[in-house]
Amino acid sequence: MSSPDVPEWIDDDLREIRAAGLFRSRRTFHPLTEGRCLLEGHELINLSSNDYLNLSHDERVIAAATAVLPKMGVGSRASALVSGRTEWHAQLEEQLAQFEGTEEAILFPSGYAANLGVIAAFANQEDTIFCDRLNHASLIDGCRLSGAKLRVYRHDQLEKLKRELEKASGDGKKIIVTDSVFSMDGSLAPLVSLCDLADEFNASLMVDEAHATGVWGVSGRGLAEELGVEARVTIRIGTLSKAIGTMGGFVAGSCALIDWLWNRVRTQIYSTALPPAICAAACKALEVIQAEPDRRRLLHEQSTFLRTELQERPTVSVPPSSGPIIPIILKDPDLTMNVAADLEGAGFLVGAIRPPTVPKGTSRLRVSITCAHQRDDLKRFLKALDRSLAKNVESR
Ligand SMILES: *Cc1c(COP(=O)(O)O)cnc(C)c1O
Repeated sequence: MSSPDVPEWIDDDLREIRAAGLFRSRRTFHPLTEGRCLLEGHELINLSSNDYLNLSHDERVIAAATAVLPKMGVGSRASALVSGRTEWHAQLEEQLAQFEGTEEAILFPSGYAANLGVIAAFANQEDTIFCDRLNHASLIDGCRLSGAKLRVYRHDQLEKLKRELEKASGDGKKIIVTDSVFSMDGSLAPLVSLCDLADEFNASLMVDEAHATGVWGVSGRGLAEELGVEARVTIRIGTLSKAIGTMGGFVAGSCALIDWLWNRVRTQIYSTALPPAICAAACKALEVIQAEPDRRRLLHEQSTFLRTELQERPTVSVPPSSGPIIPIILKDPDLTMNVAADLEGAGFLVGAIRPPTVPKGTSRLRVSITCAHQRDDLKRFLKALDRSLAKNVESR
């Protein structure tokens, strides 16, 4: 092998990451049906996926993709505007608009690309962005890329946001940017209050529904639907990679907004279009979501059961939140890794989340469940967690 030596500073940085207990190592997962996976030959209940409605393995969704593959091939060959946008892209855009109740929709290679590109196009140096402290990295990176002035607030302390909005001077736009469901806490953004503040201070509101699409709202459109504020949100961004079980980001909105995004968002213009088979799969998944609201109901039932059980345990802290993302805050990164390893030994795969993904001192297990998980799975998980906590917390 002839890889060149890395610069010394990379070795130093690696040492630093390891010394802080924050080294991330990669493994190979083999997905199975019904919320399970194989890891190193062991079958585990996967409590670390975002496949909330169990659609990534749905036979109808798979059939939709496989029917398209032999006809249209795998890759899409070009960016959408050049020659990559096929009839399946057009079909998915149309179905997304219909699902979201808007005039049109636009696709992006991923939710990350959507957030990054849309914010960077919408805001510039003269503007001020008000960004929740817990916003997803893709939103934060978009804010940075835009060059706008950045004000960070907490959604549990909106007085601070209000003061910052009052202070913002000059002719620049004011833009409030938020996740609707915070990905590491599972908590919900106070969208009604944010809409009120946006109105009061003539600000735009941009909402990332990544973890809410398919999960919240009467028709599964997200938290803005659940809270009745869809018409008050300037730009709603979603992803197809979570509850929709496929891949890609999207924005649904008016014809004028979508026309403008097609012309200004660089992560759309300069990236290859999604594979047509993925678009066909997402079309089918959207149909299933609309036809089978019971998936959503079951998901919330199981989430409530697990959250309530966890909140009764004195050794862990489970912040108030709702929905399928349930953080179990253990604070210490090593403890978090040890408990995650015990759980894995007991047959459960759970995300162990450490800084810089979450603030220092808030390392946690991030449990996320899908509608495929059975009450029995969750009960056995609780038993395994109790055993591990007894062992690890006692010995400290
Ligand atoms: C996962 C996630 C994204 C990124 O979406 P991808 O389609 O995976 O790129 C954006 N925002 C939030 C809040 C997310 O959790």
